[in-house]
Amino acid sequence: MMYSGEGIVLRRKVLREDDFLVTLLTKEYGKLSLAVRSGAKIKSKLSPPLANAHRIEFAAVKGQEIDTLTFSAILERFGPLEASLEQRLRALQLVEAVDRLVGDHVADRQIYDHLSEALRVLGQTSDAVRAGKFLAHRFLWVLLHRLGTGPEVRFCVNCRKVASLSSFSVAKGGMLCASCHGMDAGAISVPPRLIPFFQLEKERDDSIASGDLALFSRIVYEWVALHLSRPLNSFSFTDTYVSRG
Ligand SMILES: [Zn+2]
Repeated sequence: MMYSGEGIVLRRKVLREDDFLVTLLTKEYGKLSLAVRSGAKIKSKLSPPLANAHRIEFAAVKGQEIDTLTFSAILERFGPLEASLEQRLRALQLVEAVDRLVGDHVADRQIYDHLSEALRVLGQTSDAVRAGKFLAHRFLWVLLHRLGTGPEVRFCVNCRKVASLSSFSVAKGGMLCASCHGMDAGAISVPPRLIPFFQLEKERDDSIASGDLALFSRIVYEWVALHLSRPLNSFSFTDTYVSRG
């Protein structure tokens, strides 16, 4: 049986000899992996669209164990992602986050659009160091909330008060207010100006100071790490590389 759709390329992995496996986040079927037969051969027409985090159209045929890709073509390259190493690394963060956090075969149009839009914005940004860092971590934060694994950010996890939130507690699972700050000795102080970023009210990085961006990124990543058995390689690598560069 044949089927077709559109998807965003998340990952490639060698299967055997010239065959590889491509993992896509598809609009219609959620995340799925397809075998690309002879895809590693130079003459393969299937392979080039799968080289980066492109949005592609594809066709596949059902197999006993694994489905096989029979057609692929690029629909969108997401701007000049191929031009800048920083942007490619940031794109890698977005797709790795989806690959690791999203389960197979669960179609979710909001997550699909969230990833497309983030890649599009990333392709248009000229400042992959700062804007890119904010974008990647905000993307993760939104993704976690969408997947139902986000922490409580609207009120204090201890007393449920909405006012004077002052720290984030990984152990308690969200924000603590000034009165409850002492509940967790490991709680990380969050300045009031940064709270709206955690509550997803601010979409752009325009008004975030670099120290605040570092704090935002650290808290997002600490929360993500809780949900994963091993770290996101692209996050450990990129922030080391980009901050040194
Ligand atoms: Zn409280």
